[in-house]
Amino acid sequence: MTSTSTRDDFTKPTLRLMAQRAGYICSYPDCRQLTIGPSDDRKSGLTMVGVGAHITAASLGGPRYDGSLTPEERASEANGIWMCQLHGKQIDDNASRHTDVDLKRWKSQHQEWIFARIASADSLLKHGITNVSIENIGPFRERTSISLGRHNVVFGLNSSGKSSLCESIAAFAGGVNFENFRKRWRLFGAGSPLMMIEAAVSVNGARTTVRLSEEPVGLKHVPKFHQTRLHVEVNGNVAAHWPRSLFNIVYLDSQNLKPNRIKDPFRRDLRALAPQLGLSEDQVWDALREELFCSSTFGSRIRRIGEYRAEVRSAGSDFFYETGGLAGSEHSFALFDVLLRMIRADPRPTPWMIIVDSSLFLGLDSDNKRRLVEALTQLDEPTVQTLVCVNYETDAIDLKAADAEKWVGSSVAGALTVHSFL
Ligand SMILES: [Zn+2]
Repeated sequence: MTSTSTRDDFTKPTLRLMAQRAGYICSYPDCRQLTIGPSDDRKSGLTMVGVGAHITAASLGGPRYDGSLTPEERASEANGIWMCQLHGKQIDDNASRHTDVDLKRWKSQHQEWIFARIASADSLLKHGITNVSIENIGPFRERTSISLGRHNVVFGLNSSGKSSLCESIAAFAGGVNFENFRKRWRLFGAGSPLMMIEAAVSVNGARTTVRLSEEPVGLKHVPKFHQTRLHVEVNGNVAAHWPRSLFNIVYLDSQNLKPNRIKDPFRRDLRALAPQLGLSEDQVWDALREELFCSSTFGSRIRRIGEYRAEVRSAGSDFFYETGGLAGSEHSFALFDVLLRMIRADPRPTPWMIIVDSSLFLGLDSDNKRRLVEALTQLDEPTVQTLVCVNYETDAIDLKAADAEKWVGSSVAGALTVHSFL
């Protein structure tokens, strides 16, 4: 066969992927025709009124044919757009009106729309923070809105705003996280631009917006030196109480886990973790009282052997080691096992969010990063929302591929890219 007689058609799995990524909804601007439904008579039990159209044609002479593509590229999901039958025919019969540039734009607009629907669909996310807006913090000078899925991998180079984003979200937890945020960003600094953070939370199907800002409320004229008071608004109304019951956030970062004169890194990190969980250091150690403390998530078995001493048997290992002698990845997984176990023991119905922006994660090699993200996205109980930060695009791409089934989409916020998973 010569290339002129070949058609680079989409395979069935490619078509299915294309349809799923479009939510089985036509990608033509504003059409939004649902293209799949039940059939009583067809063997498949389905009726399908959608088509995977080629952005650039499958064969020479077809609409928008691009000879520079390889046959693989031509038959790839990236070269297709999901349409209802009407619009699939229309774009192929009017190739001069609908260029490949138009089609690519429609496709990405449609995916953004689908992504936004999923990101705000309470039934899918169940609970957690669906959107964060930031203004005048770090590199986010202009008001920036960031959509979050249930699990999120945030990629950005140094100084791109990863830590600003993490710290802003963590601030909603109040307590130690808010204090760190306040100090770090010098809230209420005289003459500084007014900072604002806002989080949209879905709880039992209702969307609640919580806004923390320095903006003077109820004043017609903003005083030159604005008041040293934080304004908390819930759904646009000034709140009398900090809406702490909406946010359980654990923020694992290098700042929180800074050396605190304790040599054993495990004890040091547990001490830093405790206030994030609303516990004292001793309360966390009390929870390790049982001789064998284990979690199914990463398979660490932890055995308390003294006042602030423990041994860990990591998954795949036959021996217990004192925590000071653990390898970096064993240390990280043991700590996550303790964290998840503590979260499971929390009787309150409030969901948890775990933010990882630290040596705990960055110190892992790519296999272990993948293992961590895979395990967190598979986690059903407790239901946690997660956000992990990566410095390298290769890591982001690798982690995105780690759970292609659950990957929803990617969005850009300033210099950050957020990959979201169900
Ligand atoms: Zn259509």
